[in-house]
Amino acid sequence: MAKKSVKSFGSAQDGSVIKKPIRAIFPGSFDPITNGHLDVIDRAMKLFDELIIAVGRSPIKNALFTPEERLEMIAELTADMPGVSVESFDGLTVEYAAKKKADVILRGLRSLTDVHYEFKLAMTNRAVAGIETVFIMASAEYGFTSSTLIREAAALGGNVSNLIPKTVYNRLQQRLKRNRP
Ligand code: ADP
Repeated sequence: MAKKSVKSFGSAQDGSVIKKPIRAIFPGSFDPITNGHLDVIDRAMKLFDELIIAVGRSPIKNALFTPEERLEMIAELTADMPGVSVESFDGLTVEYAAKKKADVILRGLRSLTDVHYEFKLAMTNRAVAGIETVFIMASAEYGFTSSTLIREAAALGGNVSNLIPKTVYNRLQQRLKRNRP
């Protein structure tokens, strides 16, 4: 049987192995961040030592918040989470991951539609950059939650208050009020 390799970072004076900290990036649009995203982040921190939430700056359809606003909301919500930071990035996720010396890309999975898309994305990223993607399954209560649906439902007057944090909800209401003709 092949010998299992243990990734070690070095050894302490007492001879015990010091494990290399695992750094993940969680790329996405986060327009806006939802309780579903936060649930993934919370659970990911049981697996990784460091997590960089990476807000993509590339334009998205019907964007509601600027990348700066999205980043600000995430920074506020994750301020008390040790090991979690937030940044924005341009261009290819794999290039950003390499720049940040990330070990893995983290993504969430909600449905078979996500699986189809994410599978191809993860295979491409591994083929072009050799980086692994780790998936966390959505919790039952957030499996249907998406930023796009939240934006659409809120614009039509739907109550989305239990799907997003309070601070995000308040900003969303303000933004929709401003956008109304
Ligand atoms: P993107 O435009 O890159 O899909 P999103 O902000 O929509 O950006 O999502 C970022 C990541 O979070 C994706 O991997 C997505 O599948 C995941 N995600 C979004 N909402 C949820 C949720 N409710 N539960 C689990 N994962 C989610």
